[in-house]
Amino acid sequence: TDMDTADEAVRATCDDATTCKRFATSKGYWKDPYIQYFVRSVGERKAPEINRGYYARVQGVNHLLDAFIKKAECDCQIINLGAGLDTTFWRLKDQNLLPRKIFEVDFPTVVARKIHNIKTKPPLSKPIIETHSTDSLLLDAHSLDSDRYCIIGSDLRDISNLDEKLKKFQLNPELPTLLLSECVLVYMTPSQSSSLAHWAAETFHTAMFINYEQVNMTDRFGQVMIENLQRRQCTLAGAEACQSLDSQKERFLRTGWDHADALDMMTVYSMLPQDDVARIERLEFLDEKELLQQLLQHYSICWATKDKLSLGLSQLAF
Ligand code: SAM
Repeated sequence: TDMDTADEAVRATCDDATTCKRFATSKGYWKDPYIQYFVRSVGERKAPEINRGYYARVQGVNHLLDAFIKKAECDCQIINLGAGLDTTFWRLKDQNLLPRKIFEVDFPTVVARKIHNIKTKPPLSKPIIETHSTDSLLLDAHSLDSDRYCIIGSDLRDISNLDEKLKKFQLNPELPTLLLSECVLVYMTPSQSSSLAHWAAETFHTAMFINYEQVNMTDRFGQVMIENLQRRQCTLAGAEACQSLDSQKERFLRTGWDHADALDMMTVYSMLPQDDVARIERLEFLDEKELLQQLLQHYSICWATKDKLSLGLSQLAF
C-alpha cells in the first residue's frame, strides 16, 4: 500500500543520516570509532556545507545531552526515539558518562538490522556484555535487553504499545529521563508528535526532551527541502509543525512541559566552542558561506524540561 511505501521511505532515512555522519567523521569533523560498523563504506563525497551541518547537529545535541547527564550525575535514563543506527551508547561508555540505562526505539525492521550488526561485530557487542552483570542478556532478532542498553522495535505513533514495551524492559518513571528525537517528529503528523510529547510529560516528573528537526519551512529554501524529501516518497507529515521556533516550543508548552527553549542551528553553530569550530572550518574549503547559513537556519534544536526534583534542568542551555 501507499502507507507501507511511505513508512519504508522513512525507515531508509536512517541510512542517510548514518552515511553522512560516517563521511563527516572520515574527514575529521568529530570522532566516532563505532559508526564504521553500521555503514560499510565511507561512500561518495558530501559537500562541505552538509558536513558542517552534521557537525552542528551532532555537537549541538551532544552538548545538551551531556549537560543533562552531568546534572543528574548519571543517575538517569535516556530514551532515544527513532534512534536509527545512533552510536551514543558506545560514546557515553567510553567517556564514563553512561546513564543507568539507554533505551532506543525504532521500527522493528530498523531495529533488526541494528541488532544484527551488534551481534556480528565484537567491537559493538563487547561493551554491552561488559556492562551487563548476569548471564540473562536478551539478544534476539527483534530486541536487545541488557542492564545498561535496550533496543525496542515499536511504532512511535502507537503510544500504548510504546509504553507497554518500555515498561516490560524496566523503564523507571521515577528516574530523571532524557528523551531525544533527532529528525524523527517531522515524519509524524502534528497530532501524533504532540501525543508523544504529552505521553512523555505525563510519564516522567523530572525530564528533558530534546528535539532536532527542520524549521522555517515556509520560505522558498524550505519548500525545496520538502520537495527533495517528497521525491523520495517521504511524507513530511509534520512539516506544518515546523513553521517557527515558537511553534517548536508551543508543541511542548501545550502538552505539559514547564519550560521550553528553541534555537536555529545558525545560532547554535555560533555558540559552540569556537576553537573547535575554527578547527573544522580549516578541514575543507567552503566557497558558499551563504548556502551554509541558509541550511543552518532551516534546522533547529528545541528542548523542554520539567523538574520536580529541582536538578536545575531549566538552566541547561548553550
Ligand atoms: N535519530 C537518528 C539519527 O539522527 O541518526 C535517525 C534519524 S532518521 C532521519 C529517522 C529515524 O526515525 C529512522 O530510523 C526511522 O525509522 C525512525 N522513525 C520515523 N518514524 C518512526 C515511527 N513512527 N516509529 C518508529 N521509528 C520511526
